[in-house]
Parts: sequence; C-alpha cells; structure tokens
Amino acid sequence: MGFHDLAKQQKTVSRILTNALRRDQLAHAYLFEGPKGTGKRQAASLLAQAYFCQTKNDDTIEPCQECVNCRRILSGNHPDLVWVKPDGKSIKKEQVSNLLKEFSYRGVESIRKFFVIEEADKMTAQAANSLLKFIEEPSPQTIAVLITEQAHKLLDTIVSRCQTLTFIPLPEAQIAEQLVQQNISEPLAKLSAAVTNDIDEAVDYCHDEWFAKARQLVIQLMEGTMGQSHSPLLMIYDQFFPHFDEVHKLDIGLDFILYWLRDILAIHLENEKDIVFIDQIDILKNQALKSSMQQITGKMSAVLAAKKRLSANVNLQSVMEQLVLRLQGGSHHAV
Ligand SMILES: [Zn+2]
Repeated sequence: MGFHDLAKQQKTVSRILTNALRRDQLAHAYLFEGPKGTGKRQAASLLAQAYFCQTKNDDTIEPCQECVNCRRILSGNHPDLVWVKPDGKSIKKEQVSNLLKEFSYRGVESIRKFFVIEEADKMTAQAANSLLKFIEEPSPQTIAVLITEQAHKLLDTIVSRCQTLTFIPLPEAQIAEQLVQQNISEPLAKLSAAVTNDIDEAVDYCHDEWFAKARQLVIQLMEGTMGQSHSPLLMIYDQFFPHFDEVHKLDIGLDFILYWLRDILAIHLENEKDIVFIDQIDILKNQALKSSMQQITGKMSAVLAAKKRLSANVNLQSVMEQLVLRLQGGSHHAV
C-alpha cells in the first residue's frame, strides 16, 4: 500500500501525512483514531516505511517498498520500529517504560525511531503517564503513533499533545467496489458492504456460507411475500427458522429484508445504482410496479418494529409470523 492507496480511503489523512513528510515536519506523536476497519494500522506501517525508506520518491513521498528498510518493515522486523499491543486486557506500564528505555539508547541502525501503540485506550493509568513524559519531551527523531477506536477513553493530556488524525468509515459503494476488485461477486459484495463499513468484516462475510445462504433465503421469502407461487409462512418454518436460529442471526435476516425493500424504493426513485440485490433486479422491478412507495415504507416500518421486538426478547417465531403477514399485505400503511 502507498499513499495513493491510502488517499482513496482516507483523503485528508493521506494529504496531511504526505505534506508533513515533504516538508520534513512530521509531528512527534500522532493519534490515529476512528472505527474498526478504516486502515489505521496500515497507515501507521506506511508512515513508518516513508520515515525509514532509503530511496523514497521525493515528489510523491511514496516509500519504495524495495529497500532494506521497507522490506524489514513489511516483514515486521525492523529494529527501530516497535509495535506495542495490549498484553492481556491492558497495556501495562512496563511495556511502555521498556520501550522508552530501549529507545533512549542510540539506534543500532540509525538514530531514527518509530513506535506504534495499538489500542492505546487500553493503557493503564501508569502506562499512560510514562508515555506522557515521553510525549512532553520527545527525543528529536522519534515518532509515536497511537491507534484507537475509542479516543474518548484516552487521557486529555495525551490527546492534546498528539496530532489527531480521524479515519472515517468507507462509504458503502467504495467498500463494494473494493470487494469486487478482490474477485467477489457483485451481489455478495453489495450486500456485505450494506451490512458493515468494516472492510475486513465485509470480506469475511463474503466468504461465509451462512451469509450467502441467508441471502438466498431472504430473496426466496421476499419473492413469496409479494407473489403467489408459494406460501411464505410455510417457507419460514421449513427453511428460515432452521437457518436464522438465533436472535443475532435473525436480526441480520431482518436487515436483508430492509435492504430488499430499500431496493424497491430505489427503483421507484430511479436510483438503480444503489440497489443491493443487483442480480434480482427483474423481480424487484416487478414488485415496484405492484406496490406504491407508501406501501413499501409501511413494510419497512414493520421490519423495524420487528427488530425492536426481537431485541426485547419477544418469541422469534411470533415476531416473524406477524412480520410475514405484514409483508404480504398490500395495503397496510406505516405502523
Ligand atoms: Zn524503501
């Protein structure tokens, strides 16, 4: 990965870092914060490569990925780059103080040092205080990157001394696009991108048989509720419940139903590029013809109500039975 790749996902972050590198004005401490799956670790590794690279391109600031330093970082064994992760549930004082002690000696390779603290919010108070002392009086050529999904849990004194860079979740369309580039079929890519904005989790879903079958079952159910071919109530007992046999699974199933209905709305609104069930477009179009936007939004409200009842531990089967009746009804309006 280079800065041009980072820029596709995190434009602001990439611009700030490349500008600082170009001017040779990196901050001593960065805080990379933002939700899971937004590329914070990859960005920290990239910054380290750019910091140590012996032959980086002066204009683009891209590390070469071929010199000895780049290769060592890519393979995870550069002596002057240290990653700290929680030891058990927390990052302990010794982990931070050992690191700083090690770094206070002149480097084996150069005087440049770089350390990354993952899940920095898990530092104990003592660990955070050791780190604070370092951040207050940094050694000139040492760069620290703190990574967290929960910046609010860090000490204010630490946050205020770091340059904070916020990583934003990828838009749905961009996640789907990246998945397709990884040879995942477009229908699966679009559905998993709708479910999560964590790219790694999305990839996992795409390789999960349960997920693919869940998709098929929802398609079958939605065909049934709006057609005459087979009884959706029978179908939920024969196939739906055995597959969606836990609350969290059924909750995902209900989300799929919502996406299906959202797709019908997208057709009404002539917004076809947003369609998730892209391989079912003929059926969706047919259903859009048979139902008004008001009917569809009414059905969406019924799904949301079902999700709420599910979270209140109401019997799974009664929730689904009622919902299926609501989905079959053509003329019901909002709850
Ligand atoms: Zn290099």
